[in-house]
Amino acid sequence: MKLLERIADILFPERLTCNICGREIFDGGYLCEECAKTVIFNDKATCPVCGRATRYPVLCLECKDKAPPYKKAVSATVYDGGAARLILSFKSGSPHLKRYFAELMEPKCRQLEGADSICYVPMTAKAKRKRGYNQSEILAKELSKRLHLPVIKDAVVKKRETKSQKTLSFKDRAQNLKGSFTAYKEKVSGKSIILVDDVLTTGATAETITRELLKKGAKCVYLATVASVEFKRPL
Ligand SMILES: [Zn+2]
Ligand SMILES: [Zn+2]
Repeated sequence: MKLLERIADILFPERLTCNICGREIFDGGYLCEECAKTVIFNDKATCPVCGRATRYPVLCLECKDKAPPYKKAVSATVYDGGAARLILSFKSGSPHLKRYFAELMEPKCRQLEGADSICYVPMTAKAKRKRGYNQSEILAKELSKRLHLPVIKDAVVKKRETKSQKTLSFKDRAQNLKGSFTAYKEKVSGKSIILVDDVLTTGATAETITRELLKKGAKCVYLATVASVEFKRPL
């Protein structure tokens, strides 16, 4: 093992045990061999706009039906199995996973032509205090180091807490989110921004923030997430 890698192990003890099952690992990775198999990478067919896994690499029915406001979205993995478990840990006491996720997201982000800055999905101050960190913000900072693009701090803020989105329909989600995010023109005007979040599910939050960024003069908005739900053709 190279000296630098050994130093990394001492500095980052998360690379000594598997981040899913806790088993000891010896190759300096993040996952044991078994758990690594449960992470599905988005390296096969994806929709060229929303980046979700699809059966064929063509526009998915949702994007065909209604184009999202962002120019293009990319995600490193499918939100299922190992990736879903890792994201849950990331949000509940394992902020160090930002390094693993940024590593996975970097090549996807490099495909976003002309991007010149990064911003992240905000949390309310209260929610951030409760968790101790905003997972999208720390992920954005980690990506910033790899992509050599600046993070625009507080480009968008979340002023009020919204109801849990889980039980709401897409239309109700959009209504629930309306007016809860504010972007600052002086920070975002003329910028080509990569908006970073942990996961893309319905896309309601990302779409609301994208519209707000564009309204405040952003030139274009890309979306980058660790994972996205697979596009499933409606039955
Ligand atoms: Zn494992
Ligand atoms: Zn799509």
